[in-house]
Amino acid sequence: MSSVQSIAVLGATGSIGTNCLDVIRQHPGRLRAAGLTAFSSVEKLKQQVEQFQPNWAAIAVNQVCDTSGFSSPSKPARTQWFHDLEVVPELVRRPDIDIVLSAVVGAAGLPATWAAVDAGKRVAIANKETLVVAGSLVMSRAAETGARLLPVDSEHSAVFQCLQAGRKQDLRRVVLTASGGPFRGRTKAQLREVTPEMALNHPTWKMGRKITVDSATMMNKALEIIEARWLFGIPSSQIGVVIHPQSVVHSFVEYCDGSVISQMSPPDMRLAIQYALTWPERLATTCQEMNWNVSHVHEFHPPDFEAFPALRLGFEAADMGGTCGAVLNAANEVAVARFLNCELRFDQITQVAEEILRNHQYDANPSMDRLLNLDGWARKEAVRWNT
Ligand code: NAD
Ligand code: MG
Repeated sequence: MSSVQSIAVLGATGSIGTNCLDVIRQHPGRLRAAGLTAFSSVEKLKQQVEQFQPNWAAIAVNQVCDTSGFSSPSKPARTQWFHDLEVVPELVRRPDIDIVLSAVVGAAGLPATWAAVDAGKRVAIANKETLVVAGSLVMSRAAETGARLLPVDSEHSAVFQCLQAGRKQDLRRVVLTASGGPFRGRTKAQLREVTPEMALNHPTWKMGRKITVDSATMMNKALEIIEARWLFGIPSSQIGVVIHPQSVVHSFVEYCDGSVISQMSPPDMRLAIQYALTWPERLATTCQEMNWNVSHVHEFHPPDFEAFPALRLGFEAADMGGTCGAVLNAANEVAVARFLNCELRFDQITQVAEEILRNHQYDANPSMDRLLNLDGWARKEAVRWNT
């Protein structure tokens, strides 16, 4: 892969999207932003369009956005604007797109990610919710079309890198590291008092609001267990979680001989994004290097399933598969929004997700329509869940 690769950056204005554009900016001869999408950050998207001059840009239909001002005699507009995100699945299928960076937040990322997989593109996948909701269908469609899913989630990028050290049949298990979020060490009772402001203050990563809250409840790790289950095609019994507060060891893989291979770097999402875009090549980055001239202490602790029951739900949903991921994810998305709106307590986020998961009509081999219906059902249940 040495020609310039054209990238559709879905969710360009978010935390992953802006980091991706930073990576693209550093490798102008190799990477080009060919399409950009955003939901509501009109001004930010306009600035990005001006800077990266993509072939197209799309924003949600209800955003008032004057995009006429870009064309001038000295600088003719090369960007086609769409004021509707429903066109994005068709746009990513176009031949002018080589790689789709899927970085929309939530199940809203599914339609365009599916289209990219269906069209056989390389998909750099940050939007873990797509795999949580429809991992089985997405992976089997990718096998049919030749689409390649490259993980952007730092843990999954680490696992992907470590898996290159051995054979799949020699794998004992994959261990996902978790920072433990801002409330590591707190008891279940203490977690009742957590406010949105407290939950939005992550100790090691700067991320979008939804994933930051998910990290605090550890639902993020639950979603990552399900993501790993589909991405690597391994049962939940071969997935473990360990708390590593420093966020430097991004995950590890154990082989049958007892060897443990890990991937490490100072926490910076640009590294995982770049690897997904340039794999199998590695390019130099401006990311901070490990400094071996200072002392490091790296801790590893077992997770507290009592204080963070979301973790157990992740293992259960990964184990049962079928409709579980879609229901768990949708209920969690609404519960997080309600928590941020001060309608639910922090500990109720997981409670809502668990109750709705338990009450749903399980189907082991659902169609995409069934998954989307259940997603809608779980959202309604979570909206009307009373405290
Ligand atoms: P964010 O909230 O910072 O950005 C989300 C992006 O999606 C924005 O560009 C927004 O305009 C767009 N968007 C929001 N709602 C949308 C909708 N309904 N339809 C279309 N577009 C919409 O989120 P983020 O932190 O960048 O996370 C994006 C994804 O990457 C999530 O799935 C998250 O779990 C995953 N991820 C993020 C990180 C991180 O460091 N931020 C790490 C690992 C995985
Ligand atoms: Mg992660």
